[in-house]
Amino acid sequence: MLRALLLELAKSPRLRRWIISHRVTRRMAHKFVPGEELGPAIEAVRACNRAGMTASLDHLGENVVTREDAERARASYTEALDRIAADGVDSNVSLKLTHVGLDLGGKFCAEQLRIIVRRAEELGNFVRVDMEGSAYTDRTVQMVQQARAESAAVGTVIQAYLYRSEEDIRALLAIGCRIRLVKGAYKEPSRIAFPRKKDVDANFIKLMKILLPSGIYHALATHDPNIIEAATRFATEQNISKDKFEFQMLYGMRTDLQKRLVQEGYRVRVYIPFGRDWFPYFMRRLAERPANLLFFVKNFFRGAAPED
Ligand SMILES: Cc1cc2nc3c(=O)[nH]c(=O)nc-3n(C[C@H](O)[C@H](O)[C@H](O)COP(=O)(O)OP(=O)(O)OC[C@H]3O[C@@H](n4cnc5c(N)ncnc54)[C@H](O)[C@@H]3O)c2cc1C
Repeated sequence: MLRALLLELAKSPRLRRWIISHRVTRRMAHKFVPGEELGPAIEAVRACNRAGMTASLDHLGENVVTREDAERARASYTEALDRIAADGVDSNVSLKLTHVGLDLGGKFCAEQLRIIVRRAEELGNFVRVDMEGSAYTDRTVQMVQQARAESAAVGTVIQAYLYRSEEDIRALLAIGCRIRLVKGAYKEPSRIAFPRKKDVDANFIKLMKILLPSGIYHALATHDPNIIEAATRFATEQNISKDKFEFQMLYGMRTDLQKRLVQEGYRVRVYIPFGRDWFPYFMRRLAERPANLLFFVKNFFRGAAPED
């Protein structure tokens, strides 16, 4: 219920204004977002690289309502790709289709995506299309299929909480699409998504067992030690070597687990968000874990640095 409430509050413009204008909350958001500009995000990528991990840069933003904003977002992604190449850091990019104009029309958005993917391909890089709420699932899968037909430099995300995900995975595997598997971060009705965490976890493991033996390079994005343990055990049993897939985690979360996996020889990619529009991302992180919310409430007047 708390999760549902926080995800609902994430839509509130009043709360957004209040949270982003408050000095203490801005400082607290730094746990999850290293900076509002590309520069600090690149520095965070560099730190991950030094620690033996790769990264994915996400310029925060979603549901833009003007073409100008969508085009600005598209330009920020080509700029990030150029900067990654110029600075010689190891990172790809992750984006949300509603940030590059999905609400403004499929054709327009597909063109923005095409420009970004083309640049990534020219630079030998890769674009991950994040998965948003279920209102966008069909369009996201279709647009990625279209983009993947033109370039291998694009992949997407599948959410284990949706009943439809196995079917989507099979369709995407058929065209060689790289997939990031996640549990799912949005509020979805039980008509379309498993309401119980136990069932989401079981479906994650089931889908992981379809992805890993597929011969395509996929990503398992979770901080859940039980799922990570199940995945490493399965990969060992199936003789799937450690360089055939990667784990992904969010910036600022379970850095201990990130390090341990690197020490054990697994590939780890850290998702690094940056930008001014961090409010919905911040709220989703609070909704995910009661300890994050507790930290927020307890430290609101203190502004202390959170623990992992
Ligand atoms: C790289 C990446 C990309 C993502 N992209 C998308 C996307 O495109 N679309 C989408 O819907 N969702 C996305 N997500 C979010 C995802 O769907 C989940 O909401 C989020 O990862 C939390 O689920 P979990 O798998 O970590 O496990 P949970 O079930 O939330 O947590 C399981 C266990 O993990 C540990 N844990 C989790 N969080 C923390 C923490 N902050 N600190 C310490 N321990 C913790 C705890 O032991 C907890 O009991 C992404 C997640 C990652 C890591």
